[in-house]
Amino acid sequence: MKVLKFGGTSVGSRENLTRVRDIVAAVGEPRPVVVVSAHSGVTDELLRQARSAVKGKWSVRKLRQRHRKLYEEIGVDPAVVDPLLEELRDLLRGLSLVGELTLRSLDLVASYGERMSVRGIAAWLESQGLPAVPIEAYDLGLRTDSRFTSATPDPKCFPSVRKALRSYKGKLPIVTGFIAKDKDGNVTTLGRSGSDFSATLLGAAIRAEEVQIWTDVDGVMTADPRMVPNPRSIPTLSIAEASELAYYGAKVIHPATMLPAVDNRIPVRVLNTGRPEHEGTTILAEVPAGKGTVKSIAYKRGVTLITVSSTRMLLQSGFMARLFEVFARYDMSVDLVATSEVTGSVTVDCDKQLDAVVKELSECSEVQVDRELAQVCVVGEGIRDRYGVAAEVFGALKKARLPVRMISHGGTKINISFLLEEPHVRKAVRTLHKVFFG
Ligand code: ASP
Ligand code: MG
Repeated sequence: MKVLKFGGTSVGSRENLTRVRDIVAAVGEPRPVVVVSAHSGVTDELLRQARSAVKGKWSVRKLRQRHRKLYEEIGVDPAVVDPLLEELRDLLRGLSLVGELTLRSLDLVASYGERMSVRGIAAWLESQGLPAVPIEAYDLGLRTDSRFTSATPDPKCFPSVRKALRSYKGKLPIVTGFIAKDKDGNVTTLGRSGSDFSATLLGAAIRAEEVQIWTDVDGVMTADPRMVPNPRSIPTLSIAEASELAYYGAKVIHPATMLPAVDNRIPVRVLNTGRPEHEGTTILAEVPAGKGTVKSIAYKRGVTLITVSSTRMLLQSGFMARLFEVFARYDMSVDLVATSEVTGSVTVDCDKQLDAVVKELSECSEVQVDRELAQVCVVGEGIRDRYGVAAEVFGALKKARLPVRMISHGGTKINISFLLEEPHVRKAVRTLHKVFFG
């Protein structure tokens, strides 16, 4: 059995819903489990209304219109979502009376998006000759803890989810992404864009042969299409490679949300609803050896480099610990690290709290701050096994006369990262893309 997940845009227009119908129909037997997001724009509007309700102003008009317009276009009776819209209105009114918005209520409000979309989409598929049944994931038994707005699922619920899904034989289960319940029966959400997570969780629960994440891109690319003229999509990625790329904002799913599937050796495929014939990218626990050296050239702008030197601290134990402790206390996440005997350099990608950090570090060392840098990262498991990748990278940069500020080549050796001045980043990405992808 396969799990197919369709995001908000994929279920957001008549054109895309038609594609969804064809994609689902083409799977045939055994019927897949279909996980869907709210129609695009709906979750944002729900959260907006919740926040405004506590200030005394709310309306479900926009939400009603959004669903009515789409459903009229696809020939579904908009009344399928009326009972939920009524409920939602009462809920918003309640929030305005209480004048307080807890994370628990926020999740409850957000849950209406998916609860409405499964009803509309199931009705549409039915009308197209594909018997379908809308299901709230918590009715399958999907459980989480009570950390509202980013709840953690409890894998102990998998056997009951599996059993519950089996009982829908003969009909396509159209399951809500994003939402679940805690053990007390409160609605929870898995965090924004959490439907991917729902899909891999259900995949793990039923031990699916594959989880397909249908989006609006051809999978993961060899570089940002805005930066290079000829980016390609990457056929296979390991979870480690995908995680590296996600840090750089590669437009894929968040690696943590892939783990339930990948941990169970279930491949996760990222596919394009707009181009279903494209093979997309498959993410696996490990990629078979020999499948390409470098997979992608990623980058990030707005990086700050902080260099701390302290001759006094020379060779003293605990220097790095003290350095990191300061960053941790200010909730600043450190990314690249390079050290020598008397200096420690780290990069951060946010400026917030930086002044306070610098002030504190200056008490025991000399601190230099360089802003407006960019970080470029060459990613691929194959870097580990092949000689001279670093030479190729830095040779090409030298030829292109691009000065490098700091280098980091980690212990796992699946990436080579370096810093340069922000205005040079485009040239650097293009240069390296040409070296590795022609
Ligand atoms: N509808 C939710 C959101 O917009 C979940 C999702 O789309 O995956 O964040
Ligand atoms: Mg989404």
